[in-house]
Amino acid sequence: MKHEDPDTAQPLDAQINTDVCIIGGGYTGLWTAIELKTREPNLDVVVLEKEICGYGASGSNGGCALTLAPKFLSLCKYFGREEAKRIVLGSETAVEEIKQFTDEHGIDCEFRVDGAQYIATNEAQVGAMDTVLEALESEGINSWRKQPLDEARASSGTSMLRESYFSPIAGSLQPALLVRGLARVARNKGVRIFEKTPMTSLIEKNEAPKVVTQFGEVTAKKVVLAMNAWMASSFKQFSRSIVVVSSDMAITEPIPERLDELQLNHGATICDSRTFVHYFHTTQDGRLLFGKGGNTFAYGSKMIEAFFKPSRYGSQLNEAIQKFFPSISGTKLAQVWNGGSDRSTTGFPFFGNLNDHPNIHYGFGYSGNGVIQCRLGGKILASLCLDQDDEWSRCGFVGGPRGQFPPEPFRWIGSLAVRNAIRRKELAEDRAQRPSAFDSYLASFAKSAGKTDQ
Ligand SMILES: Cc1cc2nc3c(=O)[nH]c(=O)nc-3n(C[C@H](O)[C@H](O)[C@H](O)COP(=O)(O)OP(=O)(O)OC[C@H]3O[C@@H](n4cnc5c(N)ncnc54)[C@H](O)[C@@H]3O)c2cc1C
Repeated sequence: MKHEDPDTAQPLDAQINTDVCIIGGGYTGLWTAIELKTREPNLDVVVLEKEICGYGASGSNGGCALTLAPKFLSLCKYFGREEAKRIVLGSETAVEEIKQFTDEHGIDCEFRVDGAQYIATNEAQVGAMDTVLEALESEGINSWRKQPLDEARASSGTSMLRESYFSPIAGSLQPALLVRGLARVARNKGVRIFEKTPMTSLIEKNEAPKVVTQFGEVTAKKVVLAMNAWMASSFKQFSRSIVVVSSDMAITEPIPERLDELQLNHGATICDSRTFVHYFHTTQDGRLLFGKGGNTFAYGSKMIEAFFKPSRYGSQLNEAIQKFFPSISGTKLAQVWNGGSDRSTTGFPFFGNLNDHPNIHYGFGYSGNGVIQCRLGGKILASLCLDQDDEWSRCGFVGGPRGQFPPEPFRWIGSLAVRNAIRRKELAEDRAQRPSAFDSYLASFAKSAGKTDQ
């Protein structure tokens, strides 16, 4: 933000008309705006953001730029093999596209396409990737290779490693610099962005929906709801479509020499094979970013205040860092934070038309895997807005949520029971003990969409 003109945060204070009004200035909203202006430069596009662009997950995520390839089997289950293949290849292409786009438009978001390592850190995790990689291989779309242990331990910096697979199609980036850069490019393309402008209501009764804000109104031919986890509390019909669950993160002070010693001086993202994974990567200025999902579940799938405060799990993150990298133990954490992630029943995002209104589209539910996938979201929403019949408007993700979570209070109580069972099961596995059958059974409820959720 310090590089930006403070006057750009303009609230809406008028009644205006537009072709497309997008609610939400995160990756989904901004990629949609950019995609629309790229396909139809004369289209008038407005973005309304309740705070500033990047206020949500897009400005505070872990920056792990990962594809959907490790979820191929789950994609097959929900969308069929052909569509699953297309989605995997789409998400791999998106890595390259985002890299090209950010280079072309001078968005210095420190995007390093140095790959991803999926590792096992105990015997129970060994083999977790076998079936999915066999399936990718049989379709001729496998970008992963098993690494020799020496190589894998060297590139991940951790001797806890028992097995590792590497794909070059992935990396890491600085998330807030990406979202602020997208906002700048969108403005340069003529998109009108109004920040500090929450939508207070949406009037759906006419063909042209109307978005109401505190000091203004927008009448639009098309409205796009790109509000991520806020969708569940803003629209009753989505109150059971997602659970909102934290990802907790810590970043160290710069320690470039110590990371060099560990050979952790690249931009690859590394994840273990837990249900709620540990993930880490370094930053260009020599810090270690380390995170873990699945700690705090929000009652009623609301964006609770805890998601905007420092993480309550800083000491657990610190302990995990010490276990993974004993040689840097004692390093000061510069920051710990967390955020609420929109986990769907399938583990995949979903898109559709609000209440079947032909001119109101939405998309959310990325389930902690949105840095790359929001680029696909932008294409899908652009095709829906332009009424284009193409591979994006026909994507398997279109058609609304596929399933519901139980109502409250069962959802919250059930989430905590499953979370606690997973914790006990994974602790037993770390100690090379057999988890109880009850814990394994409960933990299986979280496995619906495979791995890699941040
Ligand atoms: C803590 C955390 C860590 C994560 N780590 C990773 C990771 O490492 N890798 C990865 O791939 N994914 C990760 N994710 C997921 C990824 O960040 C998200 O999927 C992605 O940013 C979603 O983008 P979005 O634009 O849909 O939502 P958001 O970025 O949340 O944007 C939604 C916007 O809508 C605005 N809004 C809400 N209500 C209104 C309203 N009424 N009026 C106007 N505006 C409104 C919000 O202010 C917000 O800016 C993580 C998520 C979290 C929460």
